Amino acid sequence: MKRSRKAKILATLGPASSTPDAIEALFKAGADAFRLNFSHGTHEEQRARFDMIRRIEERHVRPIGILADLQGPKLRVARFVDGRIHLTAGETFRLDLDPAPGTASRVQLPHPEIFAAIREDADLLLDDGRIRLRVKAHGADFADTQVITGGDLSDHKGLNVPGVVLPISPLTDKDRADLAFALELGVDWLALSFVQRPEDVEELRRLSGNRVRIMSKLEKPAAIDHLEAIIALSDGIMVARGDLGVECPPETVPILQKRILRATREAGKPVVVATQMLDSMIHAPAPTRAEASDVATAIYDGADAVMLSAETASGDYPLESVTIMDRIIDRVEADQEYRTIRDASRPSPTGTTRDAISAAARQVAQTLAVGVIVTYTSSGSTTLRAARERPDVPILCLTCDVTVARQMALVWGSNGVVTPEVHSFGEMVAVAIRMAEESGFAKWQDQIVITAGVPFGTQGTTNILRVAVVEET
Ligand code: PGA
Ligand code: MN
Repeated sequence: MKRSRKAKILATLGPASSTPDAIEALFKAGADAFRLNFSHGTHEEQRARFDMIRRIEERHVRPIGILADLQGPKLRVARFVDGRIHLTAGETFRLDLDPAPGTASRVQLPHPEIFAAIREDADLLLDDGRIRLRVKAHGADFADTQVITGGDLSDHKGLNVPGVVLPISPLTDKDRADLAFALELGVDWLALSFVQRPEDVEELRRLSGNRVRIMSKLEKPAAIDHLEAIIALSDGIMVARGDLGVECPPETVPILQKRILRATREAGKPVVVATQMLDSMIHAPAPTRAEASDVATAIYDGADAVMLSAETASGDYPLESVTIMDRIIDRVEADQEYRTIRDASRPSPTGTTRDAISAAARQVAQTLAVGVIVTYTSSGSTTLRAARERPDVPILCLTCDVTVARQMALVWGSNGVVTPEVHSFGEMVAVAIRMAEESGFAKWQDQIVITAGVPFGTQGTTNILRVAVVEET
């Protein structure tokens, strides 16, 4: 199944999108990869979704990426006697370790490490930042706060501690169990929430091995302080604007988004812009103008993928959300201004043979008006370098490894195709031609550009650029 759009769509699955028909409809409408959100649902529900995606993939012969999103150390308050309370500005409110249900004056925060890490005058944000408490006094098992911004507070609402690096593992016991389950399923990507330090990514890597790719979700100010180091250790980055916009003032979110996009693109790794992209479509069949503009901005800025959360997981219009996102991306990519911005913001090749070949492939494709760049890769890294060039034409990623092919579902312009191993130069050209034709990116008499490495099958050897005509075999 041919898809010529370059930027990808990552759709979150949930109660609104968990039948084979619903998922297939989202895929056909444009979803390239699906997110299994381990903050919600049971393992059996995730397994059912996983199996449905793999069956759809088989029918459509296009690799589909599956990303397991680990909840990470999301802090939550416990329950209240009556389910909810009201906090008024100026009042005092206590957080403590007492498991008794909360009242209008206190509630349990079952995270002792938070009481150790906070300081006086630190702000604690509750319920997506709607409520703000300021710490006035704290000890090993309590914090006395003053309500700065009040509101209703109900059971299990989230708590953010902006600006404080919390001495907690990025992986809770629940995350470790979810991780083992996701690896057993065989997901292609893992997302790690609330990354604070480069070591957090290393910890997940130690536990998950090298086959699955790791996407770090940037939603803590501390992560921004280590941006380059975290990008270097990750395989991809998510601009997790939901929690980022709670932890940082909202006016900084667009600036951080651009900074993260630029730094991740420079590194040649995929970057996803996430959260509230079409938020009003949770309950409406059409987006606001501001939302259409937000999706477009992410595409103009060169994002590899844009994400839908509640819009597809629990909203009333999952299919409409993917459809409109697909249309917005298509329109932007056809705009001359998009090409101008892309050409002006292209990162320079680093001094490697592979980058030299990738840059040349882009130029040759443009000069000869070739319709596709075909890359041979075992690990996917050559395709990533080709995508870093942001060529005008689609990129085929020919690989023997189906996981690599699926992982490309989140990479700008890249289309994974599973191919048998090739052993000679002639075979390399013949297979590239056949795959370009079969996948619909080239037809009889078209020229294609091929990059590959000899000796064949050895990782990291890209050193050949070949122009071929679809007729040689
Ligand atoms: P979440 O992550 O949806 O898992 O919270 C994304 C975000 O915070 O933006
Ligand atoms: Mn988040």
